Amino acid sequence: MKKYIFVTGGVCSSLGKGVAAASLGSLLERRGLHVRLAKIDPYINVDAGTMSPYQHGEVYVTDDGAETDLDLGNYARFTSAPLGRENSITTGQVYQEVIQREREGRFLGRTVQVIPHITDEIKRRIYLVGEAPNVDVTIIEIGGTVGDIESIPFLEAARQFIHDIGKKNVLFVHVTLVPSVVGGELKTKPTQHSVKELLEIGIQPDVLLCRAPRPLTDDERKKISLFTNVEEAAVISAYDVPTTIYEIPLVFHRQRLDEIAIEKLSLECGPADLSVWRSVVDTYERAQRTVKIAIVGKYIELHDSYKSINEALFHGGIANGVRIEIVKIDSERVDKEEDLDGLFGGINGILIPGGFGTRGIKGMVRAASYARLNRIPCFGICLGMQIMVIEYARSVLELADANSTEFAPTCQSPVISLLEEQVDVKNYGGTMRLGKSNTVLEEGTMIREAYQAAVIEERHRHRYEVSNRFRPLLVEKGLIVSGTTADSALVESIQWRDHPWGIGVQFHPEFKSKPFEPHPLFTSFVRASLAHAG
Ligand code: GLN
Repeated sequence: MKKYIFVTGGVCSSLGKGVAAASLGSLLERRGLHVRLAKIDPYINVDAGTMSPYQHGEVYVTDDGAETDLDLGNYARFTSAPLGRENSITTGQVYQEVIQREREGRFLGRTVQVIPHITDEIKRRIYLVGEAPNVDVTIIEIGGTVGDIESIPFLEAARQFIHDIGKKNVLFVHVTLVPSVVGGELKTKPTQHSVKELLEIGIQPDVLLCRAPRPLTDDERKKISLFTNVEEAAVISAYDVPTTIYEIPLVFHRQRLDEIAIEKLSLECGPADLSVWRSVVDTYERAQRTVKIAIVGKYIELHDSYKSINEALFHGGIANGVRIEIVKIDSERVDKEEDLDGLFGGINGILIPGGFGTRGIKGMVRAASYARLNRIPCFGICLGMQIMVIEYARSVLELADANSTEFAPTCQSPVISLLEEQVDVKNYGGTMRLGKSNTVLEEGTMIREAYQAAVIEERHRHRYEVSNRFRPLLVEKGLIVSGTTADSALVESIQWRDHPWGIGVQFHPEFKSKPFEPHPLFTSFVRASLAHAG
């Protein structure tokens, strides 16, 4: 029988439910079980594609081109479970499907209602993930907080799992906050209340993951257990770890979270081999040196806007045995700054990430120019690569108004433009390029050296491309086109000539990096930045 674990959240948002779900997934996977993870987002948006990174953090892109919540990135970094469109479920998708069926007359005149029609569609989507062949356990994280109006149909669907497949096949894990007040005392009342809210819906949690600044004492755990009817052993301290989030699987394992889940679900599996996590944490703890990387972007206020990039840099640090200090620099500030030497003083590498829209572009171009002329390792990702090309065209090709038609639709030198605007490429359409595709890497280039491969597969999320009209001139003036599509029609990566490390990629390598499988480009970038640090 297939098993389902629902992960809910109480008290408030941003408790790290995603990392908790991913850590549990990892513990089960490391015992030899086949795990799948899915995220439910109770918002009305059909997917995260149209959402601002300011509001919701980064948009995570899967191989099949789904634009999803950033928690899928957590699942990808902690487990090897495959992820695609079906692993991200939103209210928008559920209603869209049900309303479309209603319009097609498929409900045969019945009244279409939240229960059973919406809940049935929610369950259908969850079963689609969990009932796939060779899956033992499916972990479903329900976004938002218990008590939100939007999450009620999803919690009701989760409750129905008990009815449909039996309690012994369903586990409820509730992530809750145990805040500390003046004097360091931990308060359990909010947890009691949020468990009560779950009980009202008909769900008795089996496990509590208590987010707190420090480990809970036995007395605190006893008290929570008494008030919530959760076994004392299953009241687990999810305290703030001083090292890295990659220690969390170890923290949970020490408190027997995986054993509890296995016992309650009667799963048969081997012992947990957690050596990969131990080695990541040990390397981090042993690291003596710190490499300072500046991210020059436009969405820097919210830490999660560049979530996968932050993590991939950390992984590159692990691969080189160093710690990474990320310095977030607002590109608008770079534009206004007179003293760039001061601003970039002590920086060992500059990363220009992806983005959309005009704001902040000038500062990014300035940062690229500074990195190129001062021989600082520079990594341009998606928009970042386009910026590197624009900067090169302006400075080296002396095309003063070189730009992307995204920012300057009528410019004379559109070195970056939509494909249909480019005269010599036809029939590609104007929609966003999304999801995985192959890139062929030129022999003798730094990127090929980093990947140690001639053909690579990476994910895309962009509309604009390097213009083929300007490509010959860019190449003639020394810009190296280091990677293209197999038909050579599209530029996928570039390299600065005679520079220690200047690489731009049109794709998003950050989505595929894992702590124990660091992405080769991030490993190589950190290595070059370490060399810059001397
Ligand atoms: N705005 C650019 C484009 O659409 C880059 C997108 C990105 O960085 N993801 O091509």
